[in-house]
Amino acid sequence: MTFSSAPVVSVKQTTIYQEGNAVLNDINFDIEKGEFVYLVGRTGSGKSSLLKTLYADLPLLQGAIRVGDINLKNIKDSRVPHLRRRLGIIFQDFQLFTDRTVAENLFFVMRATGWKERSKMKSRLSEVLIRVGLGSVSTKMPHQLSGGEQQRVVIARALINEPVLLIADEPTGNLDPEVADGIHKLFQEINNSGTAILMATHNHQLIKDYPGRVLKCTSGKLQDSKLESFDLTESV
Ligand code: ATP
Ligand code: MG
Repeated sequence: MTFSSAPVVSVKQTTIYQEGNAVLNDINFDIEKGEFVYLVGRTGSGKSSLLKTLYADLPLLQGAIRVGDINLKNIKDSRVPHLRRRLGIIFQDFQLFTDRTVAENLFFVMRATGWKERSKMKSRLSEVLIRVGLGSVSTKMPHQLSGGEQQRVVIARALINEPVLLIADEPTGNLDPEVADGIHKLFQEINNSGTAILMATHNHQLIKDYPGRVLKCTSGKLQDSKLESFDLTESV
């Protein structure tokens, strides 16, 4: 007997808009469970706009998108937290509360996503910090950590609710190459344990070092390395 599982993301005949302007036209792709997918393209080509549409920060105006079992067409505001619980979202700038400890930063997200029992929250905190290679940082303030460590805290925060998909928008853009490589290895480990990853990046070398499927935003269209071959060097 074979089991087929639904894709974690399905995008069909979708046009991505920013302020009424079409940024990407008629795009189509699926991401399967456990896939690692890079999103590339020149600055302004629509990478962040596409990612924002996936986590309902931009409205889906034309086309059909499903994330897990959630249909983004006409999604109600009250359903958006549910959508974001299924996703882990990671940006270039770390977006931690600078006036709260690491633990308080993570507890904040847990409370916002329905966690209540203190003992379970504490044990989840330890689990996700260990998972990202951080030991005893929970009482530290963000400024007491290096850039790479702060980004690991952000990744830990994104992992709290066991997302089906991690969405990362240039997650190593602010880090020096060696630290960036360590963070990227962490993404690979997380991916190897079954979490799909969609990562916007300008880092061509990264894609050479850790090959994966590539979606490329170019001239208002999306090319998919699964369907056609193309030159990466002109896109990053
Ligand atoms: P980068 O590599 O620089 O991050 P990107 O590929 O992520 O670029 P987007 O940020 O998606 O590109 O931008 C796509 C288009 O939408 C650009 O023309 C940009 O000027 C426009 N745009 C982006 N953000 C906004 C906004 N908040 N309001 C209006 N237009 C925007
Ligand atoms: Mg961007």
